[in-house]
Amino acid sequence: MSGRWQGSTRRSRLPLDWSSRIVPRIMARDHGICYLCGQPGADTIDHIQPGDNHTDTNLAAVHDRTWPHCHRYKSSREGNTARHRYRDRRSTEPHPGTITSHHGAAR
Ligand SMILES: [Zn+2]
Repeated sequence: MSGRWQGSTRRSRLPLDWSSRIVPRIMARDHGICYLCGQPGADTIDHIQPGDNHTDTNLAAVHDRTWPHCHRYKSSREGNTARHRYRDRRSTEPHPGTITSHHGAAR
């Protein structure tokens, strides 16, 4: 447990006051409105530009565990440019998570 980060695990790079101070602050600033879809109900704070920039301007509220799970969409689609595209499709595109095709019957 030294102060050094390995650099490979994203989660461990969050600042110490991430959940105690930063998340509530950004959530209050954004009023729980997801920056990807513009709808309320966001439950997570996301980095707009991935990396170590933990300043307020790079952080925004986003849906993760809450429908429509914008954060998971962003991650699975490569977040850099998918943001704009996703904004237009929020109401028409089905969720990949609802597809149940490979439900094995035999073993
Ligand atoms: Zn959203």
